Amino acid sequence: MTKIKSVRARLWKWTGPTVPPKGQFCTNASDLLWEKGDAMSSFRFHQWMTCEVETEDGTVGIGNAALAPSLVKTAVDEVYGPLVIGEDPFDYAYIWEKMYRKTHAWGRKGVGMTAISAIDIAIWDLMGKLTGKPVFKLLGGRTKEKIPVYYSKLYADDVDVMQAEAAEAQKNGYTGYKMRFGCGPKDGMAGMRENLKRVEAVREVIGYDVDLMLECYMGWNLDYTKRMLPKLAKYEPRWLEEPVIADDVEGYRELNAMGIVPISGGEHEFSVIGCKDLIATKAVSVLQYDTNRVGGITAAQKINAIAEAFQVPVIPHAGQMHNYHLTMANANCMISEYFPVFDVEIGNELFYYIFDGDPEATDGYLQLDDDLPGLGITISDRHLADFEIEE
Ligand SMILES: [Mg+2]
Repeated sequence: MTKIKSVRARLWKWTGPTVPPKGQFCTNASDLLWEKGDAMSSFRFHQWMTCEVETEDGTVGIGNAALAPSLVKTAVDEVYGPLVIGEDPFDYAYIWEKMYRKTHAWGRKGVGMTAISAIDIAIWDLMGKLTGKPVFKLLGGRTKEKIPVYYSKLYADDVDVMQAEAAEAQKNGYTGYKMRFGCGPKDGMAGMRENLKRVEAVREVIGYDVDLMLECYMGWNLDYTKRMLPKLAKYEPRWLEEPVIADDVEGYRELNAMGIVPISGGEHEFSVIGCKDLIATKAVSVLQYDTNRVGGITAAQKINAIAEAFQVPVIPHAGQMHNYHLTMANANCMISEYFPVFDVEIGNELFYYIFDGDPEATDGYLQLDDDLPGLGITISDRHLADFEIEE
């Protein structure tokens, strides 16, 4: 039995070239603040945190977090790292409870739970490497031959630009496409028409034999969404994602109960009990926890069991290997979100630059290797010159 001897958190700040932001490319929770400052500033991020958990025998498990990476690094360095040193990584459920309960007063949501998630993901990678098995095999094995993915980009832009992007993406045969809205409550009726025009335009390109997902990123409110849902229905969206802020669970419930368009959400919810509330009260028709925020793979598996019992499909937020392994191992996770490989723009594509091993979709599918132990990623040296790294 080998024990955890160190936890190393590193902050990765991208200093390389970025694609310049283009206007209001996605509604977000800051929109209601009107003209005070840059509403998009909380949407873009060009930093990431990696968390390497090493055992006495020199095996290293890799976890990561994209939410508030510098704060999460501090939390790992000062609180959570010291809590796990000396533990047996196969006591993962105990370690999770220890991190959760010893910081419960402040750590159960937000930065604290994100730090727990990063360490937990690293521990699962470690367990895979120590047993010589891919993580999905430890989670129950292969429930699908390969993972269907949906293309997730199509930020709000000029209609012809969005149509060209959709047409280009279509060449890879995706069975689903997610687009973002640029207008919300402050843009009134004219903005509603701009939103609808783009949904129609994307449908025009992709047709009606594939799924179309619509993303609000918490940039709408209850009243606006209630007015939009009937107008959106004729475009047969697979779901409307995060229409209202994450705390407005009652709002999600009301919108989902309307039964016009399935409501999805959960990428800003934390832990098992937080997600249980979304599932059991039918606040969402599709749950999208983010594994590196919700409590890592240990919490995600518990949430998967609850969701499966309530027959709520789970489609974890974002690409990344921890999500793909969970999707592979759970029949109730039918499809994965997929961020196409792209120049650094929003920031959610940065993991392609930090790690080696994240698969690229072929013909709309991803594959995981049955013989690659752990999560199957390593920290890359390909782009080191474009990062400033803080230890
Ligand atoms: Mg989302």
